[in-house]
Amino acid sequence: MGLGGIAILLACGGASQTSGPGVAPAAASVPRDNPFVGARFYVNPEYAAKVEATIAAAPTQAERLRKVEQFPTAIWLNSIATARGASRYLDEALALQKQGGPPVLTVFVVYNLPGRDCAAIASSGELPVGAGEAKYKSDFIDPIAAQFRSHASQPIAVILEPDSLGNVATNLGNAKCAAAEQAYRHSIAYAVRTLALPNVSIYLDAAHAGWLGWDGNRGKISRIFKDVLDEAGGAGLIRGFSTNVSNFNTLSDGDGKRMEPSDPCPDELTYVSKLAASLADVGITGKGFVIDTSRDGRGGIRAKWGVWCNAKGAGLGERPRAAPALGVDAYFWVKPPGESDGASDPSTPGYDAACSTPDSATGAPHAGAWFTSYFLQLVENANPAI
Ligand code: BGC
Repeated sequence: MGLGGIAILLACGGASQTSGPGVAPAAASVPRDNPFVGARFYVNPEYAAKVEATIAAAPTQAERLRKVEQFPTAIWLNSIATARGASRYLDEALALQKQGGPPVLTVFVVYNLPGRDCAAIASSGELPVGAGEAKYKSDFIDPIAAQFRSHASQPIAVILEPDSLGNVATNLGNAKCAAAEQAYRHSIAYAVRTLALPNVSIYLDAAHAGWLGWDGNRGKISRIFKDVLDEAGGAGLIRGFSTNVSNFNTLSDGDGKRMEPSDPCPDELTYVSKLAASLADVGITGKGFVIDTSRDGRGGIRAKWGVWCNAKGAGLGERPRAAPALGVDAYFWVKPPGESDGASDPSTPGYDAACSTPDSATGAPHAGAWFTSYFLQLVENANPAI
C-alpha cells in the first residue's frame, strides 16, 4: 500500500451488461443489492487471536480490547498461499449461517497483482510483471473463484486490488508503474470477469480523497475504470468501489483543507459523492461505496495527505455497518487495525522510507505484521470512543 497523492446515486446496480466484439461474455448474474444490508459480518478468528495476544500483554486494557475483538475485519488474500485458504473462512461462516439468523457476509481483499504496489516498496508482492501475469490468473484468481463458487449459498464481498488503478491514474511517471500498467489493467479485468458470481459483490478500489480527489484525477480514474470494466464485460459486473483502504482520511470534517487546500475533496464522504458524479460522466451509475474506517477516527494527525504508513496519533473510526450514508454500502474495517503498513527500521527487508518519517510510528514491523503498541494507540484514540 502507499501513496497519497453529492450526488451519490441510489444503489441498485448489478445486472450483467451486454458484451461486444472482443469482450468476454459477462457472468450470468451478480448480486443486485447492497450485500451488507441485513447481513451478519464474519469475524476473522485469526484477527481475534491477535487481539487476545494483546490482551495478554496489556491486561489492564482487557475490557476495551474485548470489544474491539468482536468487530469484523476484511481477510486479505495477498498471496497464492493465502488465496488457497479462503475456504477455511467460508466454511466457518457457513457453519454460523446454518445455525440460523441472517446470512453471514465474508469480506475479502484480493491483493496480489503482478508488480504490486508499484509506487512504494512496503507491500511489493510475489508476482513479477511478465511471468507473473498468467500465474495471477491461474494460481490466484481462478482458485479464489472456485472456492467462492463452492460456497454459493453465502454472500461474499471482494475489495479488489487496493491502490492499483490509482497508480495507473497518477503514477505512470514512475518507471515501475509504467511497466506494470498493462498488467494491472488486464489482470483486474480478468479478476472482475472471473469473480463476478451470483454470490459475490465486487468493489473495485478507488484510492482516496487525498490522492484522486482533484477534478482531473477523478476524471482520469473514471475513464480508467470504464476501460477496465468494458474489457471485463461491463460495469454491471461490479457492485461498486472501495475507498480509503489502509488510509486515515476522516469521513466528513474537511480535515484535508488544512493539508491541501486545492483538493475539492477534503474528506472521504465528499470524495465518494464527487467520484459518483465523475463516474456518471463516463456512464457508470448506480454504484455503492465501501469506505475503510478502521483507522480514520482522528483528523489533524498528518502534515500532508502523502503520509500513509502507520500514521502517529491515528484512532479507530466508525464501526463497520451497512448503509451509513446515501450511496455508501458500508463503513468497514478493511485494513485490520493493528496490522502494520510497513517496517520503520531501514535494515528490515521491504523497508520503505515513508515508514520512518516524523509522522509515522516507530518500532513498526513489516507490512501486515501485528504492531501491538500501534494497536493500543488506535484503541486509545478511537473516535467514536470504545
Ligand atoms: C500488506 C498485506 C497485509 C495488509 C493488511 C498490506 O499493507 O501488504 O500483507 O495483509 O496490509 O494488513
